[in-house]
Amino acid sequence: MKAEIIAVGSELLTPHRLDTNSLFLTGELNRLGIEVQRKHVVGDNPDHLRDAFRGALERVNLVIAIGGLGPTADDLTRETVAELLGRALHRDEAILLWIEERFRRLGRAMPDINVRQAMVPEGATVLDNKRGTAPGLWLENDSRIVVLLPGPPAELEPMFTNTVVPKLEGLGGGVKLHSRQLRVAGLGESDVEQRVSSIYRSYSNTQTTILAGPGEVELHLRIWTDDATAAGRQLDEMVERFKLALDDHIFTTQGEALEEVVARELIAHGATICVAESATGGLVAQRLTRIAGSSTYFLGGVVCYSNTLKSAWVDVPAELIETRGAVSAEVTRALAEGIRRRSGATLGLAVTGIAGPGGATAEKPVGTVYLALANPKGVTERALRFPGDRERVRWQAAQAALDLVRRYFLYARRHGA
Ligand code: AMP
Ligand code: MG
Repeated sequence: MKAEIIAVGSELLTPHRLDTNSLFLTGELNRLGIEVQRKHVVGDNPDHLRDAFRGALERVNLVIAIGGLGPTADDLTRETVAELLGRALHRDEAILLWIEERFRRLGRAMPDINVRQAMVPEGATVLDNKRGTAPGLWLENDSRIVVLLPGPPAELEPMFTNTVVPKLEGLGGGVKLHSRQLRVAGLGESDVEQRVSSIYRSYSNTQTTILAGPGEVELHLRIWTDDATAAGRQLDEMVERFKLALDDHIFTTQGEALEEVVARELIAHGATICVAESATGGLVAQRLTRIAGSSTYFLGGVVCYSNTLKSAWVDVPAELIETRGAVSAEVTRALAEGIRRRSGATLGLAVTGIAGPGGATAEKPVGTVYLALANPKGVTERALRFPGDRERVRWQAAQAALDLVRRYFLYARRHGA
C-alpha cells in the first residue's frame, strides 16, 4: 500500500513552523508496511488544498491530511475534502454534546464557532480526540482511504496510534520495510560513495541513500518486500560487503550514535574515562553523559580553556605551553596524561584546537585540532584539520575524539588485550 501525506497550514510555509507530524506518521506507516511516496505542505487555501488532494487520490490508495480541522475560518480541510468527494456535511449531535461537555468541564461555555467541528461528511467514521476538540475523520471512497487528523502533535499522535493504526493494520499486505542504518566516521561523503557505489548499484531492489552530516556519513538501506527471509539475508550480505569496502570506519550497523558505541565499549571493558577539553568546551563530556547510566564509565572532566588552568588543573608545564603553543600535539598529550593521572581513570582524553573564526596562525589555520588518548600502555594522538564554521569544527573535533576511543578498543580487541 502507498500513501501520501498532506500537511495543511499557512504557518508551515513560514520560517517559524515545520511539519514534524509527517515524520511521526511516516515512521508509523512504514512499520505497518505502508510506503510514503510523497508529502505536501499547503497553506490554508482551498484551491491549493483541492489540488493536493486531487493529485494524491489519483496516485495512491491512502491519503492522510494533517491540520485544518480547527474551529477558525482558516481551517478548511473538512469542508474542502467533503466537497471534493461529493459528500454532504451533517451536524453530528453526539460530537456536539461531547465538545460542549469538554468546555463545561473546563468551566467555560462553548463558543459558537466550535459547532463546525461537529460537522461530519456523509459516510465518514469519526475518530475520537481525547486531547482536544477536533475529532479526526476516516473516509473511504472508490477503494481510496482518506484520513483527516488534527494538527497539534499531542492530539494527532494518540489519535493515530489508538484509532487509525488498528484500522490500517493488515491493509499493508505482506509487504514490509526491511532496513539497516550504517554510520561511518572519519571519511567524507564522496570517499564513502566511491568505495560503495558499485556495491549498492548491484542491488536494484534496494533504496540506498548516503547522508552526510558533520563528522559522519550515514548509509540507509531499505527494501520493501513480503519476503522477510530474503530481505534479511540480502541486507546482511550488503552490510558485509560495505564493511569490507569501508573497513573499520563503520561504527554501527544499527543506527546508534557514536557516543552510544563508545559507552558500550567502555562498559564491556570495565574501563573508565576522564576528559580535558579546550576547543570543544565540554561537548565530549556532554555527549558521553547524554546516555543513561553514564556514571559507570564517565568519571568527569575539565574544561581548561585558559593556559593557567591547563597548568593548575591538569599539570601541563607552563614552559611547554609557552614553547609549543596551547594548541599543539605536545600540550594535548600532556593534558591527556595529566587528566588520566589526576583522575585515576583507565583513559584520559584531551582535545585542543582552533575553532575560529579568530586565533589562527600560518601553521595552525582555523579547523586545526589535536587529540590525545592516554591509556594504560601509552598515548595515541591525532592531528586533524576540519572544514566549516566554529560549530562544525567543534562538533567534528568531538566526533573524532570519540572515534579515537572507539578505535582504541577496536585495536585492543584485535590484538587480544
Ligand atoms: P490546526 O489543526 O491546523 O488548527 O493546527 C493546530 C496547530 O498544530 C498548529 O498551530 C501547529 O502548531 C500544529 N501543527 C499543525 N500542523 C502541523 C504539522 N504538520 N507538524 C507539526 N505541527 C503541526
Ligand atoms: Mg491550521
